[in-house]
Amino acid sequence: MSAPGDLETLIELMAKLPGLGPRSARRAVLHLVKKRSLTLIPLADAMARVAETARECLNCGNIGTTDLCEICESEKRANGELCVVEDVADLWAMERAGVFKGRYHVLGGTLSALDAVGPADLRIPKLIDRVTTEEITEIILALNATVDGQTTAHYIADQLQDRVTLTSLAQGVPVGGELDYLDDGTISAAMRARKAL
Ligand SMILES: [Zn+2]
Repeated sequence: MSAPGDLETLIELMAKLPGLGPRSARRAVLHLVKKRSLTLIPLADAMARVAETARECLNCGNIGTTDLCEICESEKRANGELCVVEDVADLWAMERAGVFKGRYHVLGGTLSALDAVGPADLRIPKLIDRVTTEEITEIILALNATVDGQTTAHYIADQLQDRVTLTSLAQGVPVGGELDYLDDGTISAAMRARKAL
């Protein structure tokens, strides 16, 4: 069954979202239209506002609505610890776990010979700058336990091993696992049991 015009466009756009396919997109759009004042209009307003204001933090790469995110703005978070993650979703997962009190650095991916992703394609030069400008003493490499994640961790460790203490998440992170899919308790345990590289 196909929906007319604008509805079909909305369904096609929704179907591109992670975790949704055409079938669930169609159900979601029907739900929205039926709940026009309760859901559809507030959602449309919220999306318009986010489209206007969302941006990457100039310092760490987190997504927020100001040039510097709340974490980079907060003096309390300047404790010399910097947690390096691949993606904003990983940063948010760490924050949900509530176990880390320092600042973050989002790389925006991993090194990959196959996809021709080199250090300058990621936020690695900026990371090296921050070690000096923010007086970083410990870098926690919270990268995914994938081959590319570990290659990236070793590259960063090579660049910075003479300048800071380097640690990585320990037990609890399954091989091939991605932080965003772990429960908060597992992330907390892995952070507490981090080990020197
Ligand atoms: Zn930031």
